[in-house]
Amino acid sequence: MKSKLLKNCKVLEEGKLVERHLLLEDHKIAYISDEIITADEVIDIEGNIVIPGLIDCHVHFREPGLTHKEDFLSGSIAAAKGGVTTILDMPNTLPPTITVANLEEKRKLAEKSIVNYGFHFGSTKDNLNEIKNAKNIASVKIFMNVSTGDLKIDDLETVERIMKEAKLCTIHAEEENLSKAIEIAARLNKKFYACHISLESEIKSIRKNRKYVYCEVTPNHLFLTEKDKERLGKLGDVKPSLKTEKDQEALWKALQSGVVDTIATDHAPHLKEEKLNEDRSGLPGIETMLPLLLDAVNKNKLNLQQVIDLTSKNPAKIFRIKNKGMLKEGYDADLTVIDMNMEKEVKADELFSKSKWSPFEGKVLKGWPITTIVNGNIVYDNGNVYEIKAKEIAYERLSFRKGKTNLEKMRGEAEHFDKPKPKGFGAKKVDNVHQEELKGGGNHEGQTE
Ligand SMILES: [Zn+2]
Repeated sequence: MKSKLLKNCKVLEEGKLVERHLLLEDHKIAYISDEIITADEVIDIEGNIVIPGLIDCHVHFREPGLTHKEDFLSGSIAAAKGGVTTILDMPNTLPPTITVANLEEKRKLAEKSIVNYGFHFGSTKDNLNEIKNAKNIASVKIFMNVSTGDLKIDDLETVERIMKEAKLCTIHAEEENLSKAIEIAARLNKKFYACHISLESEIKSIRKNRKYVYCEVTPNHLFLTEKDKERLGKLGDVKPSLKTEKDQEALWKALQSGVVDTIATDHAPHLKEEKLNEDRSGLPGIETMLPLLLDAVNKNKLNLQQVIDLTSKNPAKIFRIKNKGMLKEGYDADLTVIDMNMEKEVKADELFSKSKWSPFEGKVLKGWPITTIVNGNIVYDNGNVYEIKAKEIAYERLSFRKGKTNLEKMRGEAEHFDKPKPKGFGAKKVDNVHQEELKGGGNHEGQTE
């Protein structure tokens, strides 16, 4: 690629917004400077804020099999519009992603994506061998509760066997099933990723067991409650269902106290007719997550650093995504430009998802993504889409030190990354050396990469 200078950016450094110019080269952030430097192309960001592109670790792009609802192209365009530069796709497609052959098929289909992508692998009663042989996956998904598709696992012995085998499991487990999953994780001394936590009682049990569980929440439960369900009718059907205001409050408190690790969309599109005429659970959300969160920042419900941590830095750390999740020299040039002052209504006819509706229609939000850059290429800019193919992500191999949980260890590494280092091109080398350190050695648990 030609080198690009993003001039007049504001970036968050140690909690403060500072003016910087970003040089993008070879699909990476080559240089972060307070002086303008020459480049093949100069793009004026006009004082807007640049944040690391969002990593949405929970989406259902419906391909293969359900492509009238979404596919990797439409879903990824919707992602780009929402400021999301990497997605992790869930396995409950048709066929479900439960064999190596299914995974390879999905891999080919995803090549048309304009944001970077990765895959969660599905689990059943009897696909342990496939799990062992699946390459380059983010996690193994276990459905302990019913969802779209037919991947529910009832017996706990199977859950335990899968959790033991997989390096990381993402689990849909509500209420008592969450407690059961935590019990198994404690027995195995292993940490899993709990999807879409929605209840105060679940937050309580996670608070007590943080050693064993990462906690994801969705905009569905942060911004909607049972009351909205009355208004939305069947359109408001979602799993987990919308909860009380008391539960919603508990989620926000958990965000503030650091119990929540990630916010992900659980983008699960269905056509409006399907929602109204059939029983379909799931809401689209990838285009509205960041505006909702930025609006919340403008209302002082959380700060921009928390948004970055919950939607980019932590997902990269938890799923060990290589070279992403931070705005740093040497990292991939996956960037989102946001305008904190733009005030706009959510309108169905402006949505790129094939589902073409949103539970947030009519809501006026302040703070929107305006430009999205993936691998150094502008793929979305003020309503315009550029169909430039993106890439499948790669994963770090991390060593597991005894006595430290995975996230604690990764947080340690984050501190290492955060140490001040000299400015200039030399800094690139520091990161490269560190990447080598990360790759080297370590007891590589499981064969599920
Ligand atoms: Zn889901």
